[in-house]
Amino acid sequence: MKSSRSDNVPEISAESPPILESTDNLLNANAGIRPSILGLNAAALEAQVTGMGMPKFRAAQILEWIYRKRATSFSQMSNLSIADRAALELKFSIFTGETLRHLTAADGTQKCLIRWPDGGLTESVMIPCDEDAVDESGNVNLKIRRTACLSTQVGCPVGCAFCASGLAGFKNNLQTSQVVEQALRLTHLLPADGRLSNVVFMGMGEPLANLDVTLSAIGILMAPWAFHIGGRKITVSTVGLPPQIRKLADAGVPVTLALSLHAPNDELRRRIIPWAKGIGIDQLVQACAYYFQTTGREITLEYIMLDGVNTLPQHADELASVARRMRANINLIYYNEVPDLPFRRPSGPTMFDFQSQIRRHGVKVHIRKSRGRDIAAACGQLARQDIAGEPADGKTGPA
Ligand code: SF4
Repeated sequence: MKSSRSDNVPEISAESPPILESTDNLLNANAGIRPSILGLNAAALEAQVTGMGMPKFRAAQILEWIYRKRATSFSQMSNLSIADRAALELKFSIFTGETLRHLTAADGTQKCLIRWPDGGLTESVMIPCDEDAVDESGNVNLKIRRTACLSTQVGCPVGCAFCASGLAGFKNNLQTSQVVEQALRLTHLLPADGRLSNVVFMGMGEPLANLDVTLSAIGILMAPWAFHIGGRKITVSTVGLPPQIRKLADAGVPVTLALSLHAPNDELRRRIIPWAKGIGIDQLVQACAYYFQTTGREITLEYIMLDGVNTLPQHADELASVARRMRANINLIYYNEVPDLPFRRPSGPTMFDFQSQIRRHGVKVHIRKSRGRDIAAACGQLARQDIAGEPADGKTGPA
């Protein structure tokens, strides 16, 4: 077990969420970079265009160009006057990042490494999944899912012992426009009539440590004029910050909350998740109960299986007990190994035995399919490779 990474971890308590460096207006502060229009919702965009002397309906036209017609520059917006296009070009950008690498896995999963104007790197992933689903009448329908996995921070302040994103430490929070840009770039990878069906906030960073941005991005992901994704198809994954879980519950957006538990007791959890030092599982149970009572949405417990570390039969019993207290279902996740870290991926039989042991307690538990293993599947691994100048397997090309 690697312990040195814990040494620099800030001490936090459940009632004192970590204070992170504010990067509002970060892009504006970079000389020559115009702020991205993607951070604006419809009302804010209307206020901007009318403030620039344009008619109010320009806002709807711009949104149509960006989110339906996939325009990447104002000059493409042919039903706007030339003067208005020029004025918008002077004041705003659309995309501010640059896709440094675009990898496609054998299973169709696509991963993009984006470099932001300040040099920060984040990863976004598009996971395709087509499967038959049986409806209540017994009819079999093809269910087509295109799931975007988005990052909310550059690096991650949590520093989980098994994670590539945590290895490089924390750089800064992303802005709303940067989260939306990731979703839009992934949409552009789909056929012209394709759209994202689901979003998971499971990329780099802890979304609840950048909660205001996460919430405003969710607003744009759900908006009919943008991505039009239902709240139930959006999952926010957190290591568990109780005050922010309550704030998310109170925000009135019916998203799914996934709690990254990864260990079934406080002692083990504190060894692998530094921020768990100030936050016990009991506090998480209370916060998740509040989330369930307020939103009516069941919690999902995420549990990365680290061979021999959290995969013993007694861990399955403890995990089932936590899930029952939270009325949660469980996702068991195969660990994607990270070079330089001592953790190992368990075998299939270990996964299935662990699942069976949990089922004996009457708890719903699934094993999540492993996707994109051939393109540096572990979160943060691609960014690490880029920083280190290492090659990645898989097909590389521009997104
Ligand atoms: S597992 Fe998630 S919370 Fe932990 S270091 Fe990685 S990105 Fe951060």
